[in-house]
Amino acid sequence: MVYDGSYASYYFIVFVSQEEMDKKGKGALGCYVMGEKAIYISEESLKGTGASAANTVAHEMVHVQQWEIANGPNSEQQKKYWDAYHNQADPDLEPEKYLENPIEKDAHAAGNSVSDAVEAGNANAEAYKKYTKERAEYEEDLANIQAIKDPKNREEQMVYSNLWKNKLDKLTEQFKKYEETGRWI
Ligand SMILES: [Zn+2]
Repeated sequence: MVYDGSYASYYFIVFVSQEEMDKKGKGALGCYVMGEKAIYISEESLKGTGASAANTVAHEMVHVQQWEIANGPNSEQQKKYWDAYHNQADPDLEPEKYLENPIEKDAHAAGNSVSDAVEAGNANAEAYKKYTKERAEYEEDLANIQAIKDPKNREEQMVYSNLWKNKLDKLTEQFKKYEETGRWI
């Protein structure tokens, strides 16, 4: 299920310490309290690359949408989520059954797709940074090479151009790979 915002009414996002979150559900990173119209997010999930935060927020937003659907007009989805909400297993006693429930299954799928996208974005940004750095050095070296019009002697020129040739071949290969795959190796 993809969150499209069409069922969202107002709700709050509250950031709390993990200690506070553990009181709502031991080890949980987020939870939705429908009675309060609030999503609680643990500060623990804000650490790191942003993937965990994105996953947790998306996951809990899907729960908001599911609850709106469950209480909304009669439909197949409405029945699915209504039944699911009223047949939730205790996560501590029956963790597998809890995760198999459409509520958790759908929220996990949505959360994971969002964190995957964040991770892919981070990897792209990292690769792009390396690519632009190497590219800038390459352009600078190239300008230096072209600036040499009068080498001191033939030997010096040979050494210099051999070194340059190796570097040029390696970089040309790397640039080509990056442009093809978006990955910097
Ligand atoms: Zn959940």
